[in-house]
Amino acid sequence: MPLRFHNTLTRRKDLFEPLEPGRVRLYTCGPTVHDRVHIGNFRTFLFEDVLRRYLRYSGYEVTQVMNITDVDDKIIRKARAAGVPIGAFTAEFTRLFFEDAAALGIEPAEHYPRATEYVPEMVRLAMRLRDRGVTYERDGSLYFRIASFPGYGKLSGIDLGGARDGARVDSDEYEKEDPKDFVIWKAHREGEAWWDGELGPGRPGWHLECSAMAMELLGESFDIHTGGVDNVFPHHENEIAQSESATGRPFARYWLHAQHLVVGDRKMAKSVGNVLALRDLLEQGADPLAVRYLLIAAHYRSPMQFTTDALAQASAAVGRLADLHGRLRAAAGAEEVERAGEADVAAEAGLSQRAEASFREALDDDLNTPRALAVVFGFLREVHSRLDAGVPTAAAATWLVRLREWDRVLGVLRCSPAEVPQGIAALLREREEARAQRDYARSDELRKTIQERGYAVEDTPEGPRVKNLGAT
Ligand SMILES: [Zn+2]
Repeated sequence: MPLRFHNTLTRRKDLFEPLEPGRVRLYTCGPTVHDRVHIGNFRTFLFEDVLRRYLRYSGYEVTQVMNITDVDDKIIRKARAAGVPIGAFTAEFTRLFFEDAAALGIEPAEHYPRATEYVPEMVRLAMRLRDRGVTYERDGSLYFRIASFPGYGKLSGIDLGGARDGARVDSDEYEKEDPKDFVIWKAHREGEAWWDGELGPGRPGWHLECSAMAMELLGESFDIHTGGVDNVFPHHENEIAQSESATGRPFARYWLHAQHLVVGDRKMAKSVGNVLALRDLLEQGADPLAVRYLLIAAHYRSPMQFTTDALAQASAAVGRLADLHGRLRAAAGAEEVERAGEADVAAEAGLSQRAEASFREALDDDLNTPRALAVVFGFLREVHSRLDAGVPTAAAATWLVRLREWDRVLGVLRCSPAEVPQGIAALLREREEARAQRDYARSDELRKTIQERGYAVEDTPEGPRVKNLGAT
């Protein structure tokens, strides 16, 4: 079955076809950097990471944009309370976000635009909307008139004709014609960050940021837009309204939303006060790969319970995969394993091919990670029993390749050569050989070369670990 996604916009599973064959343009709403990003948010970022990885695994070239919201009411308030300029305040939390993302094995996006670096683009978009007559001004702020956009509500299904409290649509306190309208340019207020320009002194509204940066970096129409379910309304609904009002064209074609991480019976959220940062878990001795496994193991559209038991199970699962990886590496490389006839190897390769077909089938079906992981563990059990029976080296090598290929999507193997570029992987192998021959001068030399190319090598009991120094 070909790749399909549950599209929030159409409320069904849609066959995925990018606008440009072979290339996917993906916009993922990023963090607002005023605090440590909690693991509930990382659940969404990890879903997006698996999405990105699976698109690449399926042969697409991916251009991913993740915005960094580095100016908003909270940032302004907290930076002022801390007595530091907002630039310095957000730089620190941006750094911590990238640090956690790297620890969780999240592949870097192609672009991480900062809102403050795209203000001229936002002003231009706001002016396009003004020229189209879908905005109005009040006390120096510019508002989008929701009544001007007939498609309003098509993403969330919200009916604004009903009794919904306008204050929920936009919590700011400015004067509006209609409480449901939202601000696209906020007039400057004393003590706040502001920019000057054609719209007068002020700063962009949050919804405008994403529209402007998405269209600037991906074009007026692009393929996939994602976020957490909380973003559906009003954030994404407003992005659609202003983008499509400005261009007259469809904005994003596929909208994918990740469900909450739940603690007890409540979603993990700052406002609830039950948040955990990755660092909290690491300080309790958690393995970042186990955290990654836990957060991708449930289907992204199902709410997921966070418990310490679940984390312990994830840790055990990661350990079982590492064991299989180690066993296959040993079996594939060991000379004492007898080479059998080619027919036998072909039969063993059949196991790998069948499992691969099921793995793809699961992920093609709206990125069904629990089903894909069930395939991986079925494979694991079968491979162990065939290794117990003494399979030929060539079969073990085939299975090793299969496991590493899957890890391009899952990213949960301890040392994952598939994740580093071919050149680095070759240098690593050479270094392992030098170490095996106790040629430490050569091995140090190779470590330096690897480092010059942007990767740090760390030797652990499970083998060498590689870290991408450029990931932050
Ligand atoms: Zn956004």
